[in-house]
Amino acid sequence: MTATTPKDAAAVILLRPNSNPNNPEVFLVRRSEKLAFLGGYHAFPGGQFDAEDAETPVDNCNDPQTRAAISAAARELFEELGVLPVRGGDPLTKGQRESLLDDLNSKRMAWPQLLNHYSLRLDANDFTFAGRWVTPPFSARRFDTWFFLVTCPAKQQPHVVPGELESGEWISAGDAFGKWQRSEIIAVAPTVHALQTLAAGITPDLIERFTATPHAHGEPTRRIEFHPNYICFPVRTPTRPPATHTNCYLIYTSREVLVIDPGSPYEDEQQALAESVGDLMSKGRSVREIILTHMHPDHIGGVKALQAALGGGLRVAAHRLTAEPLAGTIAVDRFIEDDDVIKLEGEPEIRLRAMHTPGHARGHLCFYEARTGTLISGDNLVGLGSVLIDPPEGNMRDYLQSLERMRALPNLSVIFGGHGPAVGNPYSKIDEYISHRQEREANILEAVREGATTPAEIVARVYTDVSPKAHAMAERAVMAHLEKLEADGML
Ligand SMILES: [Zn+2]
Repeated sequence: MTATTPKDAAAVILLRPNSNPNNPEVFLVRRSEKLAFLGGYHAFPGGQFDAEDAETPVDNCNDPQTRAAISAAARELFEELGVLPVRGGDPLTKGQRESLLDDLNSKRMAWPQLLNHYSLRLDANDFTFAGRWVTPPFSARRFDTWFFLVTCPAKQQPHVVPGELESGEWISAGDAFGKWQRSEIIAVAPTVHALQTLAAGITPDLIERFTATPHAHGEPTRRIEFHPNYICFPVRTPTRPPATHTNCYLIYTSREVLVIDPGSPYEDEQQALAESVGDLMSKGRSVREIILTHMHPDHIGGVKALQAALGGGLRVAAHRLTAEPLAGTIAVDRFIEDDDVIKLEGEPEIRLRAMHTPGHARGHLCFYEARTGTLISGDNLVGLGSVLIDPPEGNMRDYLQSLERMRALPNLSVIFGGHGPAVGNPYSKIDEYISHRQEREANILEAVREGATTPAEIVARVYTDVSPKAHAMAERAVMAHLEKLEADGML
């Protein structure tokens, strides 16, 4: 299974007019918690190209692709924040702009027709290109996003149009970057990069600084820091679709690095990971150990290669119930028990509390850091696809208890799962997981009471939303639910 092809998208870094050039203000939005893609993230307004963007005229621009990108950027800015970045728009009142937006949203008028009808012109000089970033292949939804710096027209005030966004505010780039540094917000790499770049001021070399990384030219980031000091490093693995990658985590302080789940069996991926760890070590850090969240092949496939690459002596730690099935394959040097604390030496202080959270696998471990509200969730909760509970290693009763334990953690700000992007809406995501399982259970119980006897019959009645290709997998999940119902005395 190969990663999906990125779709064209555009985003606007909206600058406040007349703000301090040494630390300019930008309009930062928070995406709705309900969104499946990057829910709860802080971001800039933007979205996918529409077919009409290719037909929208843009002055002072000869390249059709750039024209479409500018049109998409302007349209999304209008749709999401009500700001119309056009020439000839000054005579429009706030009320008129609102009625235009209504025309656009209700599809009474298409975007290019609307601009034309009111003699509004997009001009490439109002859109400063600031890089093109491609979503790493760990996500099923991927975008090739064009970023533009746009100064907000002086007479217009951005406001969040209810829908995809939950809130938005003018904030200095330095303050916003500080919030990310203190783990108060999570954001994708291009957002963090833009805030950091702008925080150094609007200088003559601003665009040079924006585009001084290969990631601003379409090369996906390998090291993703949704929160500082937690590097998500997706590696290609033979995992369960729609996932194509497993997230390895490199957690570091000024002195130590911890590696969680080096999962890839592929040499090129193992090498890329070893290089990244080596890079952290070259700055004076030592590798503390490798930790395994659980025993599945897509989480352990790169352990030996990393040990070999970094020279012998790199120890492996896991739960006893992970070590047992791995005996003869991987030697686990140290057992981690529920409530053990792993304290990394150096700055900042990172204390990870281990939670034994069986369900997906008997020896499954999660790690919680109270200071930043960070939870490393392994495969108990993932940012992409669903979690398979496959008996006898999997156990539905344990799994739901583990989810409840995760739900009870105070102050959760982010969940770093074994697959897919970080989860920026942790409580609503856990609730969704719990209610999904409860709903399945209720439906399975009903199917049994109506006479379904085999897992295949139950799947046919209950898993009507799942493609027949996934039915074998669904039968395993049904087995897990039946076991739980039996243990609960319901059958
Ligand atoms: Zn797994």
